[in-house]
Amino acid sequence: MANPVENVPLLDVNRDNLPYRDEFIEALTGVVDSGRFLFGPDVVELENEVAAYSEVDNAVGCASGSDALLLAMMALNIGPGDEVIVPSFTFFASVSCITRLGATPVFVDIRPDTFNIDAEKIEAAITPRTKAIIPVHLFGQCAEIDRICQIACTHDLIVVEDAAQAIGAAYHSRPAGSWGLIGCFSFYPTKNLGGMGDGGMLTSLDPATADRLRLFAGHGMRPRYYHKVVGINSRLDTFQAAVLRVKLRHLPDAVQSRQTIAARYDRWLSEAGVVAEDRLVLPYQDPSAFHVWNQYALRVPGGRRDELRAHLSDRSVGSEIYYPVPVHAQECYRDLNFDHSGLVETKKACAEILNLPIFPSMTESEQRRVVDVVASFYSASARMVA
Ligand SMILES: *Cc1c(COP(=O)(O)O)cnc(C)c1O
Repeated sequence: MANPVENVPLLDVNRDNLPYRDEFIEALTGVVDSGRFLFGPDVVELENEVAAYSEVDNAVGCASGSDALLLAMMALNIGPGDEVIVPSFTFFASVSCITRLGATPVFVDIRPDTFNIDAEKIEAAITPRTKAIIPVHLFGQCAEIDRICQIACTHDLIVVEDAAQAIGAAYHSRPAGSWGLIGCFSFYPTKNLGGMGDGGMLTSLDPATADRLRLFAGHGMRPRYYHKVVGINSRLDTFQAAVLRVKLRHLPDAVQSRQTIAARYDRWLSEAGVVAEDRLVLPYQDPSAFHVWNQYALRVPGGRRDELRAHLSDRSVGSEIYYPVPVHAQECYRDLNFDHSGLVETKKACAEILNLPIFPSMTESEQRRVVDVVASFYSASARMVA
């Protein structure tokens, strides 16, 4: 029987948002009528709500997740001569916040199972110049943040969590963004809490740190037209905040949908007989982590990742490669000659990773189609060998 579902998008933000359309319109109308497009009440409320959701006392809105990371580095006075430990298997912004300030990223390899920074390799990368560690909670699963904070504490280093993909995630039941001195979140439309444009937020348990972050996000200006430090202009606008407050109310449901979809992929791919060390390796879940599945990341060994991706694409099934090139190897860093000798798992992950469609409104029949097309790739190649 032909499957009625043919095209499966990598994600469908519009479909995810559709059930809340009336709530968005109502919230946005409120902003239009208030005329308070910056620093409106929705911004303050969203900060309070994200703080509560992430179990911290302080949250500061800003213009993007990238700005959140940059502001964190600025508020910590990171600059030339300082080193910051960070993974290379991440989105560019986790690292550009360091280099933009003239500081030096020191790359630590990832764990092959979670794709997160390998906590056991951090200590060897610490030098007298190390100031901070930026663990990235990749794909919606926390890095070993308890161990990382322990190491940071021992060596008097600051932890800034890149939780851009991990709002609502937790480790040992403690939320992402509440472990380090600062947590950084993104509201880019495809993130788990996605706005209708750019947006970001910083969290901190420490009120003095939060205050300093807010100072840097507002041109270092305090009081008006008196500048204490050279900050930047990075504001979360009221329209985004109004949209995000609607989305935050539904975030626990969205997370649950993602978890259901991920569990179904695990089951159906296993049942299809394509899970094996030399075929597909399913995403690993750290038993201490509450995974919120911003991405469902497979490993495709044996040099066949791009072939599988083309097979999916030819059959109108979306997929993506997060990330094809590690940050240390980006063209813009060519002249900096970073030491990448230890990044064995990072390079391997870039060659083997394949991200399948996952979004809250994805249907079972769409998922069945994805699994069937993946399975047909391997049965076709089995026939070729036979
Ligand atoms: C999305 C993302 C960012 C940047 O967030 P923007 O809001 O797009 O600026 C930073 N780090 C990671 C890991 C991300 O996925």
